[in-house]
Amino acid sequence: MANQVRIFQLAKKLGLRSEALLKVLADLGLEDVSAASSIDIATARAAAELLAEQAREARKRAEEEAEEERVRAEEEATVAAAAATAAEAEAEAPVETEEVAAAEEPVEVGSEGEAEAAPGETEAEEEEEEAPQRWVPAWAAPESLRSLEEQLAELEVELEEEEEAYVPLPEEARRPRGERPEHAVDVPPVVSVLGHVDHGKTTLLDALRETDVVAGESGGITQHIGASEVQVGDQTIVFVDTPGHAAFTQMRARGGQVADIVVLVVAADDGVMPQTIEAIGHAKAAGVPIIVAINKTDMPGADPDRVKQALLEYELVAEDFGGDTIMVPVSALRGDNLDTLLEMILLVAEVQELWADPNAAFAGVVVEAGMDESRGPVATILVRNGEVKVGDVVVCGTAQGRIRRLNDWRGKSVKSMGPGHPVEVIGLSDVPQAGQVMTAVDGIKQARELVASRSEVLRDQAMGGSARASLKDLYRELGELTTKDLNLMLKADVWGSVQALESALMELDERLEEVDINIISTGVGEVNESDVLLAVASNCIILGFRVGIGGAAERTSETEHVEIRTYDIIYEVLDDIQAAMLGMLDPVYEERVTGHGRVMRVFRISRIGVIAGTLITDGYVQRGSQMTVTRGREKIFEGKVESLKHFEQDVRRIESPNECGISTNAFRGWEEGDEIEFVAEVEVPRQTTFKSAR
Ligand code: GDP
Repeated sequence: MANQVRIFQLAKKLGLRSEALLKVLADLGLEDVSAASSIDIATARAAAELLAEQAREARKRAEEEAEEERVRAEEEATVAAAAATAAEAEAEAPVETEEVAAAEEPVEVGSEGEAEAAPGETEAEEEEEEAPQRWVPAWAAPESLRSLEEQLAELEVELEEEEEAYVPLPEEARRPRGERPEHAVDVPPVVSVLGHVDHGKTTLLDALRETDVVAGESGGITQHIGASEVQVGDQTIVFVDTPGHAAFTQMRARGGQVADIVVLVVAADDGVMPQTIEAIGHAKAAGVPIIVAINKTDMPGADPDRVKQALLEYELVAEDFGGDTIMVPVSALRGDNLDTLLEMILLVAEVQELWADPNAAFAGVVVEAGMDESRGPVATILVRNGEVKVGDVVVCGTAQGRIRRLNDWRGKSVKSMGPGHPVEVIGLSDVPQAGQVMTAVDGIKQARELVASRSEVLRDQAMGGSARASLKDLYRELGELTTKDLNLMLKADVWGSVQALESALMELDERLEEVDINIISTGVGEVNESDVLLAVASNCIILGFRVGIGGAAERTSETEHVEIRTYDIIYEVLDDIQAAMLGMLDPVYEERVTGHGRVMRVFRISRIGVIAGTLITDGYVQRGSQMTVTRGREKIFEGKVESLKHFEQDVRRIESPNECGISTNAFRGWEEGDEIEFVAEVEVPRQTTFKSAR
């Protein structure tokens, strides 16, 4: 999606919650959007700048508050100094002063309604609690603001890179341009079927393959490889299967890149939806022509014209509306008008004059990849140039290997595959990613060297990324962000699982304010040692989904204390992560009555003071608890349990029905029969604040 970024992704980059960003966007006048909506880069920048402005204001406010605080402290210091001078003067006066001062102290506090036993201590505690909220020192350094600006600059670069990432495939994987050599061959167009979920992409692809069966051309498909060929007369069309789920943006973006034509499926009864718009974005970014298949025209509520009307807004103007976008009403379910759709695809392809050089060095693009239990890493590629053969040594991203087996789109074993066709490759060391380019090298040694140097670059990048100070830290310092991070790394059997997991986790993330799930990296295949090392660097937990853990990874995880958790069921992952998120929340304390006691005997011990021999009648008492002493109906004292003894021993806590000795310097007038109620701060279970899924 060139020049577009999804709101939740932008929020992630900025270290904010989507809602916070939505609020800022609303301030900018953008109200009809959700976290899943896309905004253009200019708007993203405007939002980021507004945020920076708000951060600056917050900083200014903080400085002002700090200044006020400083002035107040100074004033207090002056007053204290004056008092000290006065006290010094008094100290020279006769003896009883000390006693007077001691006797007066509690009275003073008591007169404020808080008969605290040790007022000095209590105040100190309060001060300690307050102190961290005045984050003056952090802000005093102007670097903080500078790093915010750097973060914004970085964001711009990232957005630009993202923008660029959508446009070109690596040179060798692109369609050849320029003069067509003598020996060049025509190649079939590659078509991606994009569109909103449930608009009928899968049904359409199946139906198109069916047309083939009807024509008697198919030898039966033994196994889907992620791409298929449809024969129309003597011409061929290659269709790439594109995953249909909302979160598969990345894959769809790649699907868009690899394609020569995008068929945009829009259900006539549902119209233009968010992923329809996103798909238009992908196709436009990749500069690929769009053919609109208006599907489900058999439905009672179907209104193709309404779809055409809605598409005008996205500069897709149907021919009968005076434009040049081909729109074909179809019913994938009934097979209506599919011939016309295929004809139109061939028509558009004809103009493109697609060819390839069979003698050129081999290059292919991965359209689908995964881990197969019995066959190991499996990748489906589109051969772009040259020819790939069983026995070739190939490199693809950080995967390499000698090709053991090639399968054509029907799953039938072949010796080689020429340009323009999809083929399944078996024999790689690792699972590559969709969009990566596969090339041939001279031998295994060269392949390994190439992969080693690529891995090193990737690791450096990953480490650099996690070391960067984030805007989030800055907000945290500001006190405006009180969230905690749960960093995760996902490894799964296939990319589909990774993405399903990722989107489910992102949804979970949206549902609990206080904890932020950050997916640091994703991958396919077993958890390996470099995953563990990356997890150490980025302080994350590794989630393995339907994959095992390599031996070296297991050992390293133990020495490096990296948690690896493996699952087979998505709900179990979500349950666990949900529990982990709740576990990360700060505990909540509440003042609760913990118990009651009755004074059975009063001991007056010289030098020690007065001790109330108390029977705990229910619950418990602990040292430091607040207590309320009543006699008859009258409340006679409120204060703290300063000393708690069981026989001669100091103890922290006594449960009913035991007896104990309670004393406080602030109250000595105990009498037998006094009733005491104890109140303490008790940790209470957190009420879950998971919002319901939208
Ligand atoms: P995808 O999510 O875009 O791949 O959509 P699917 O191909 O899974 O289709 C979603 C639902 O729409 C399924 O229940 C299909 O049977 C139904 N569907 C697809 N095409 C048509 C159509 O042309 N007419 C009708 N009535 N239903 C369709």
